Amino acid sequence: MTYVVTDNCIKCKYMDCVEVCPVDCFYEGENMLVIHPDECIDCGVCEPECPAEAIKSDAEPGLEQWLKVNADMAKSWPNITQKKDPPSDAKEFDGVSGKYEKFFSSNPGEGD
Ligand code: SF4
Ligand code: SF4
Repeated sequence: MTYVVTDNCIKCKYMDCVEVCPVDCFYEGENMLVIHPDECIDCGVCEPECPAEAIKSDAEPGLEQWLKVNADMAKSWPNITQKKDPPSDAKEFDGVSGKYEKFFSSNPGEGD
């Protein structure tokens, strides 16, 4: 089991989650973060910290797509352990549906 970052992180990317992770297993893309499923110790600490409610346990049904996105992107995106400024328009995109289809980018972020 692991926790995964899902759709609503895209273009919100508040980064509150990275500060609390005891094993630093968040990785940064251009407009979202992912969790490395092999490094996550399933502690659940990050889940309530996410203002966008984008972090879910993969024990929840229907998250197969997101488990794959997290596993795939964590291999190529840089590690991030410190919170930075979120995008200036993050609030406008919070709760928008279908963000993966419209805005997902496989480009890496800057990392720490
Ligand atoms: S706190 Fe939530 S929205 Fe922000 S980067 Fe982490 S998972 Fe994404
Ligand atoms: S569940 Fe724990 S180990 Fe996994 S990403 Fe969240 S804070 Fe890190």
